[in-house]
Amino acid sequence: MEKLEHIGIAVRNLDEANALFARLLGKPHYKIETVESEGVRTSFFDVGGVKIELLEATRPDSPIAKFIEKKGEGVHHLAFGVSHLAESISQAKQNGFVALHETPKPGADNKLIAFLHPKTTNQVLVEMCQEKP
Ligand code: ZN
Repeated sequence: MEKLEHIGIAVRNLDEANALFARLLGKPHYKIETVESEGVRTSFFDVGGVKIELLEATRPDSPIAKFIEKKGEGVHHLAFGVSHLAESISQAKQNGFVALHETPKPGADNKLIAFLHPKTTNQVLVEMCQEKP
């Protein structure tokens, strides 16, 4: 893992959360993007090179809808930037972590992403992400 790339936060209402975070951070989000395959609408704030990713469910079976149902709104995942995602997935598995995705899949913000199961990471959902080549 090379850097903390972003912190993902699950929210019920993206427009309200955008306004709240703009008030908190003193700047607006710089993009909104829907990732239909994941059932999420996302927005991004840049805070000194580390991003805040707000996540709103676009359908009831979205992982974000399920998360909010179980735990409520709040921090959802930490995302670490890597250069070679496929390698990082196999390395993580070799090191005893459970990968939720065996191969990189498309994420928001021009990234390929894969998650590690929180049961193997002290209950913290971990995303690894790589800039799309
Ligand atoms: Zn993320």
